[in-house]
Amino acid sequence: MIDETELRNLAQFQAETPILSVYLDVDPTRHTSEEYLLSLRNMLKRVEGEAAPEDIQAVQRYFEHEYDWSGRGVAVFSGAAAGFWRVYILPLPVASGATVARRPYISPLAALLDTYERYTVAVVNREGVRVLLFHLGEPIQEEVFEGEEIKKLKRGRGSSGGAERRGGAPSGSRHMEEMAMRNLRQAARVVEQFWRQHNPRRLILAGAEPTISQFRDLLPKALQEIVVGTMSGSPTDNERILRERSLYILHQVEQERGAAMIEAIVTAAAKGREGALGLDDTLSAAHEGRIRTLVILRDFHASGYRCTSCGYLTAQNPGVCPFCGGVFAEIPDAAEAVVTKVVEDGGEIEVVEHHPLLEQAGIGALLRY
Ligand SMILES: [Zn+2]
Repeated sequence: MIDETELRNLAQFQAETPILSVYLDVDPTRHTSEEYLLSLRNMLKRVEGEAAPEDIQAVQRYFEHEYDWSGRGVAVFSGAAAGFWRVYILPLPVASGATVARRPYISPLAALLDTYERYTVAVVNREGVRVLLFHLGEPIQEEVFEGEEIKKLKRGRGSSGGAERRGGAPSGSRHMEEMAMRNLRQAARVVEQFWRQHNPRRLILAGAEPTISQFRDLLPKALQEIVVGTMSGSPTDNERILRERSLYILHQVEQERGAAMIEAIVTAAAKGREGALGLDDTLSAAHEGRIRTLVILRDFHASGYRCTSCGYLTAQNPGVCPFCGGVFAEIPDAAEAVVTKVVEDGGEIEVVEHHPLLEQAGIGALLRY
């Protein structure tokens, strides 16, 4: 399975010849494998001429004859001329797309890892805690702590004597509160221990209020800081339910990160120097190699022009290349071409579904100084 180390290896790979990077959404709950193969063929058709025919064939052959349709997403990188071939089957869906550049297009994988890598769900109630470690939505570690049973004592209240004489229920329920607090404190220590051992990047608390708030307050500050959300849940819930709920929370986290990025770009672009908004500005920033993070709407495509000798990209045909005097050829997708350029320059790419601030421009970037 892909992890940070593997991602770093991919990021360092660079070739003299084009690498075809293909992401395919294969979520079996939404479409059939035939439908996914059809969308793959259409995607591959669009990169004909950019990608080497043997890479297109290799990817097609893989999906048609080797892939067992496990997982929900697949990433394939093929650079036959450089002897490069990698396949990652992902337990989470990815947006389908094909990119050709002299580096593997890893941003979708990086975004997936950034959001869903090693997170913990702590399902807590007044009697204990169940802690699960997930990696990309797959449960990989689990620990259960069961403290003193609270219900049993509640039932045996009448015969427990002693404290009961001075007013029955109040002191009985105070006793139960104390026990619950003891359990919670113990549970917090268990979660802290789990955290030290497994080092998750995010923590989601599951349970009911006010217990989860009390529990949160008992956690060390460093752990409170990685709490990204709370959800309902009981320690006896099955993993699939906990997985789905936690993935939903992390999806929100991902959306918020994309939105924050867009806002940063709009602000920077308004100030003039560190942001670019719209195809024109983004293309010139790309030409200068200044794009740190490219943000692009999923369905944004625009035709443009590319200098046939130096590769300069532009939205309008200026006639003669201002940089080398070469001639321009129209290209069907300047947005895709800028993605290629940013990938080759080592920048990051964030693809967003939709955002009101990006609706008009379609594309923008945070720039290097
Ligand atoms: Zn030129």
